[in-house]
Amino acid sequence: MRTVTILGATGSVGTSTLDLIEREPDKFRVRALTANCDVVKLAAAARRTNAELAVVADESCVLALRDALAGTATQVAGGAQAVCEAAALGADWTMGAIVGCAGMKPAMAAIERGGTVVLANKEPLVSAGELILAAAARSGATLLPADSEHNAIYQCFDFARPERVRRIILTASGGPFRDKTREEMARMTPEQAVAHPNWSMGAKISIDSATMMNKGLELIEAARLFPVPEERIEIVVHPQSVIHSAVDYIDGSMLAQLGPSDMRVPIAHCLAWPDRMATPMAPLDLVALGRLDFAAPDPVRFPALRLAREALIAGGARPAILNAANEIAVAAFLARRIGFLEIAAIVEDILERYDPAPPDTLDAVLAIDAHARVLAGERVEDCVV
Ligand code: NAD
Ligand code: MG
Repeated sequence: MRTVTILGATGSVGTSTLDLIEREPDKFRVRALTANCDVVKLAAAARRTNAELAVVADESCVLALRDALAGTATQVAGGAQAVCEAAALGADWTMGAIVGCAGMKPAMAAIERGGTVVLANKEPLVSAGELILAAAARSGATLLPADSEHNAIYQCFDFARPERVRRIILTASGGPFRDKTREEMARMTPEQAVAHPNWSMGAKISIDSATMMNKGLELIEAARLFPVPEERIEIVVHPQSVIHSAVDYIDGSMLAQLGPSDMRVPIAHCLAWPDRMATPMAPLDLVALGRLDFAAPDPVRFPALRLAREALIAGGARPAILNAANEIAVAAFLARRIGFLEIAAIVEDILERYDPAPPDTLDAVLAIDAHARVLAGERVEDCVV
């Protein structure tokens, strides 16, 4: 019996994680479930799993949560600090599936406590990667990547002989605008941008897939997680999202992980690791798939790829600024305040205008993150006529 905490339990990744653990009630016991303010979904999940604790980050939702869980044994709490306390309860296995930098402090709280911490939430690794890895080294926490590409690399990577790795091939679906011209992209709506061809995901990451900033963030994430220099991490467009990523060795062997485009596959790998568990998905049918296609990404139509690689190479505060400005620009696009192409333009502009010293604490990262958000917010206002 392992104890489990899910941070961001009501989102796309959180729901997939719950689906897997609820199939094996004798193997997993839920300690804490958290959400921002989706009380109905959170309370239902807490009731089904008999969770010890349910937490809403938004304090104005805590009374509604208390009502919804009246008569159960589940404790209720609210506020950002309560989310960190839930993370620090010390579950054997914690899923970090909060979206954006809001997941940074909770993820850090779980890592400092130790145990197995699964990072689906990529933004903290991008903004504060070095600090997160150092905290894991101090506490002895095991970090496992749930992001499908990084999970694929993790399954193929020989950590005992990283010098034998020639390249990491990070695959990208290319998103819903893979074949659109820049002129067409300029007119795309949030509805068109969230309609991902292969994956069903939260709104923010879906927009990141459309701009390919998601792959840019994943490039930085890969550089944090695997001991391979940036110039040996290659991005390849693979529209079918069947090969989730690959590791190329010096002897010419390339190992890849293949699977259905369902986050339950990498999450199950993390849940059972180092064992394996059954999942409900149909096995991959290669004959039905027929073919797999590959192409180089287009840096002109997808400037986010260049911005992310530059931020990774420059290091310091650059990845945090990239990520914070992107979060604001994506929110503005979703609110129909800016056009699709302005997302990357705003990120580039903020990176040019703001160049603070490298942060060496989590609070310093959060201060840079906050200032980049203010600058990006002002820049959004300039775009809105
Ligand atoms: P989502 O929007 O569906 O869910 C986000 C979760 O975070 C929800 O439970 C929400 O209540 C909670 N949340 C939102 N704001 C919060 C705040 N301020 N404080 C506390 N909790 C808050 O997002 P998702 O698609 O599940 O993605 C979650 C993370 O996983 C993201 O970082 C994303 O990049 C990453 N990821 C997602 C997928 C996917 O397939 N969805 C794949 C790989 C990585
Ligand atoms: Mg991914």
